[in-house]
Amino acid sequence: MQDIIKKIEKYKLLGRSGSRFPTGLKWETVKKTKAEKKYIICNASEGEPGTLKDGFILRTSPEKVIEGIRIALETIDNSSAFIYLKNDYYREFGGKLKTLSQGLPITLFEKKGGYLAGEETVICEAIEGKALEPRIKPPFPAEAGLWGYPTLVNNVETFYAIAQIDQGSYRNERFYSISGDTAKPGVYELPEDWTLKEVLEQTGNLPDFDFFVQAGGGAVGEILLPKELNKKIEGMATIIIFDKKKTDLNILMRKWISFFLRENCDKCTPCREGALRIEELLNEKNLNQVIWQDLFFVLENTSFCPLGKSMALPFSSLIKKLIVK
Ligand code: SF4
Repeated sequence: MQDIIKKIEKYKLLGRSGSRFPTGLKWETVKKTKAEKKYIICNASEGEPGTLKDGFILRTSPEKVIEGIRIALETIDNSSAFIYLKNDYYREFGGKLKTLSQGLPITLFEKKGGYLAGEETVICEAIEGKALEPRIKPPFPAEAGLWGYPTLVNNVETFYAIAQIDQGSYRNERFYSISGDTAKPGVYELPEDWTLKEVLEQTGNLPDFDFFVQAGGGAVGEILLPKELNKKIEGMATIIIFDKKKTDLNILMRKWISFFLRENCDKCTPCREGALRIEELLNEKNLNQVIWQDLFFVLENTSFCPLGKSMALPFSSLIKKLIVK
């Protein structure tokens, strides 16, 4: 077990959340940071629209997730763990997870709040019973997380991959969530270095009609055209397919902004006011590129947390590729 971190580093495992942080480095940091106790959090909050893979893994292979957490408990001295589950998952998988984790220091915690409550520092606030707002980073949770102690936060798929690495069955694959205008939506386990085109072809999801996709999540994902599918997916492995003829772009952008207006925490001005400004701009007849560009710049560069910073990407990519061209 001592060499599990070396094995994780050998496979260059990246966390299976949107940030794709090197998992070995995170484990190493938590292990090396001196403290009388440490925490492990399995993040099963899965709040990004169109992302379904953690639920799929909890339904089909919960024992692998618990095994991944058990390996972390064994690797990190004086540690105990939480599984942080969104409400549906708590109801659907709570009983099974409790049974599987018997005898281990694992506590199930039902998520409070929405999308933002899946961000690692907000998870720490939630478990500590505080307001659901992100913390300033650094320090990162790996150095000072739950109650100020070193805390390893990995999501469900990462623990699943660690169990595979430990058992020697890891094949450099990840889970792709595919949805939208397609007859074969679903969650598929395929090589992580495949291009979007390869994933869509292999799963029978490459459309034969005029289309575009949103890759990386149903709110923060980038819009990509068919000619851009020869690249690997960044961030969350979520692909939503849109039939170009059937999709009203204004309605799609309104759906996104409703999400951001609902999910932001109002803590910082750029994100709070920026979301309102986007909603106003969507009501205007003419698209003023200068104003949109200013807004994107402010959101990306001055928002406090990843939610505000990532708000610009879906809008900027859609406007550039499908409206202004
Ligand atoms: S960027 Fe948005 S979600 Fe993040 S702290 Fe600011 S208001 Fe809250």
